[in-house]
Amino acid sequence: MKSILKSISVAALCTISASAAVAADDFPNKPVTIVIPFAAGGPTDVVGRMVGQAMSVALKKPVVVENTAGAGGTLAGARVARAAPDGYTLFLHHIGHSTAPALYRKLPYDSITSFEPIGRVTDVPMTLIARKDFPAKDLKELIAYTKANKAKVSLANAGLGSASHLCGMLFQSAIGAELTTVPYKGTAPAMNDLMGGQVDLMCDQTTNTTGQIKGGRVKAYGLTTSKRLASLADIPTMNEAGLPKFEVSVWHGLYAPKGTPKAVIDKLSAALQVALKDPAVIERFAGLGTEPVPQNQATPEALRTHLKSEVDKWAPIIKKAGIYAD
Ligand code: ASP
Repeated sequence: MKSILKSISVAALCTISASAAVAADDFPNKPVTIVIPFAAGGPTDVVGRMVGQAMSVALKKPVVVENTAGAGGTLAGARVARAAPDGYTLFLHHIGHSTAPALYRKLPYDSITSFEPIGRVTDVPMTLIARKDFPAKDLKELIAYTKANKAKVSLANAGLGSASHLCGMLFQSAIGAELTTVPYKGTAPAMNDLMGGQVDLMCDQTTNTTGQIKGGRVKAYGLTTSKRLASLADIPTMNEAGLPKFEVSVWHGLYAPKGTPKAVIDKLSAALQVALKDPAVIERFAGLGTEPVPQNQATPEALRTHLKSEVDKWAPIIKKAGIYAD
């Protein structure tokens, strides 16, 4: 009896791996969807659309983007964690994927074990910006005004664990003032309100802010990198402007649901590497203050290692800060 069971299960396993191999050979035979955890038109969406478009050339099938915004990106995480592990539903998220396990007590997935990493994508600097009539001409004046007016000053973000939230927390802690934070489903809608004068401040990726800064629609006070950017040469670093050691950059990674066959992951990773070498992607990224990661970082192993180290890095910091969502 035992040996019959054994041969049945061996046969079953062979069938499963044979069909996985066929699925991988044939992959992709229909459009691939990248789920973006924030609103359309925002910085994560911009990265997802650029990379998706370039990956579609390598994959020879359309790559479409869908936005599942809300709860700091965790609604999208839950959606992809539950999706069929066949490579047709992917997840592009940023640093927030590594902070979510510590920030969300009831996270319906595990950021590490519920996904298969495909590769790192890019690291994006941030800028501290304000509505254009905000009464401060530089960072020093901004800090003085904000400290004097504290809760009257509003600070937009894209929800708990979003990059804008993390950067905003860092800013409040650096100046020792608690502001009124206003969460949105992404920094695209937050940017609309900032330009409309409904909120005062926001810290957001250059992939969303460069055009608005250059167009004079918002005021920029500082850049969160150690060096100035060629694309925003007039904007000082936060360090130069008066807040030393204020450095944040927003790393992005691409994931598939756990259990996606390795051969499919390898195809997706190869397509990501092709996309990140695409001169059009490099040029658009440069115009937005960023660049693709080196090719050896756009791999499952590099993303797995980086994600794990970021989860380990953020957990004690967030625990100490006592911030969480139930
Ligand atoms: N960049 C935003 C954030 O994490 C979210 C977005 O892409 O809209 O703050």
